[in-house]
Amino acid sequence: MRFSGLRVLREGLTGNRGWQAHWRDATPRPEYDVIIIGGGGHGLSTAYYLAKNHGLTNVAVLEKGWIGGGNVGRNTTIVRANYFLPGNSEFYSHSLKLWEGLEADLNYNVMHSQRGQISLFHSDAQRDAAVRRGNAMRNQGDDAILLDREGVRRHLPYLDFDNARFPIYGGLLQPRAGTARHDAVAWGYARGASERGVDIIQNCEVTGIDIDRGKVTGVQTTRGAIKAGKVAIVVAGRSSQVAAMAGMRLPIESHVLQAFVTEGLKPCINHVVSFGMGHFYISQSDKGGLVFGGDLDFHASYAARGNLPMVEHVMEAGMALMPMIGNARVLRSWGGIMDMSPDGSPVIDRTHIEGLYLNCGWCYGGFKAVPGSGWSMAHLVATGEPHKAAARYRLDRFETGRGLMDEEGTGAQHNLH
Ligand SMILES: Cc1cc2nc3c(=O)[nH]c(=O)nc-3n(C[C@H](O)[C@H](O)[C@H](O)COP(=O)(O)OP(=O)(O)OC[C@H]3O[C@@H](n4cnc5c(N)ncnc54)[C@H](O)[C@@H]3O)c2cc1C
Repeated sequence: MRFSGLRVLREGLTGNRGWQAHWRDATPRPEYDVIIIGGGGHGLSTAYYLAKNHGLTNVAVLEKGWIGGGNVGRNTTIVRANYFLPGNSEFYSHSLKLWEGLEADLNYNVMHSQRGQISLFHSDAQRDAAVRRGNAMRNQGDDAILLDREGVRRHLPYLDFDNARFPIYGGLLQPRAGTARHDAVAWGYARGASERGVDIIQNCEVTGIDIDRGKVTGVQTTRGAIKAGKVAIVVAGRSSQVAAMAGMRLPIESHVLQAFVTEGLKPCINHVVSFGMGHFYISQSDKGGLVFGGDLDFHASYAARGNLPMVEHVMEAGMALMPMIGNARVLRSWGGIMDMSPDGSPVIDRTHIEGLYLNCGWCYGGFKAVPGSGWSMAHLVATGEPHKAAARYRLDRFETGRGLMDEEGTGAQHNLH
């Protein structure tokens, strides 16, 4: 089933009776070449690129809940490539380029909107850091524009410039950054993978990983045992639990991150805006709701719900930046479980068990990484070699201390990244 403007028109005129399910609801087969544990953005994009780039279609994605029920459908949808450190810089640059062709590639409207992101700075020292970051982005071949205070005011006139607790000195604008509709990204990849022969299996929880003499042989699930020569763990917030099934202890902590959405308003925020004096970022959805988020809850937890002190903390940051937000009514908030790594950067790597691969540590930046991560993970699983854009995402950096990528410069405290 192809989507097109003409098709929408035809369906509209004929009672919308011709649409089909976007992917096959597959039942598990006894054996696959590759099993991907986790049907989030990263698992589904891995399956898609395994099929598309490497011709591997005897693949199953096993999802314990439903497609789009994890973080991929819970995030604040920000897509950008403004990373500073070698390793991250080239990876996110690669991912953003994939985003730019994604809708055409998937033949699916993921509502990717390059509306621009402005990261504000509030002191001379922060300006220096922004200039440095902007130069690194441009060296990488990406776009970055330094705005002074008046430049920010031209774009974001509604901010509190004159009576602010944290005066605004300027901002770093990435015009190609923006947002996308998060669950449509999961649906688009699921559809694309399924079309190419991948089995998408929902309500199928992996409960054990079978290993024989140092080599993976399959998985145990709530729907029976399934054999496979290659198994990829791609379960975001549940990484430590699933890796433990293979006897591994990961350097990952799971923390809850909350997001909020207000009632629908007329268009007022055209960009993604990030506060420089606290964790607060905001954009406006196409439906009109202001979508925003802030800091992690500081206790490690597997509960996908937030708590009130953090709600207060995020609202306070929003009010300090743009007091007008106090007039909007919050409709909903929700939480997702973040796989926080000790240096804030991810892992795409083999493990010491033959045939077992690991993709985790996305902290709260993994939505923008979905295309790049799937592309690199598929390359690793298919060829056995890391893709060059993700070559630094090695697991052993936490053992040896070599190659750590502490983008935030906050040290080895998981919840500060
Ligand atoms: C509130 C919030 C805001 C965020 N904002 C942004 C943002 O603006 N920009 C950005 O880039 N990133 C953001 N993120 C981070 C981003 O959403 C995550 O890093 C990313 O979605 C994680 O990868 P995923 O999509 O594969 O995860 P998920 O969608 O969580 O996928 C993992 C899947 O594995 C499944 N699973 C777990 N255990 C098992 C098992 N035993 N068997 C089978 N399946 C299993 C889960 O059910 C889940 O569906 C945000 C996250 C949250 C929660």
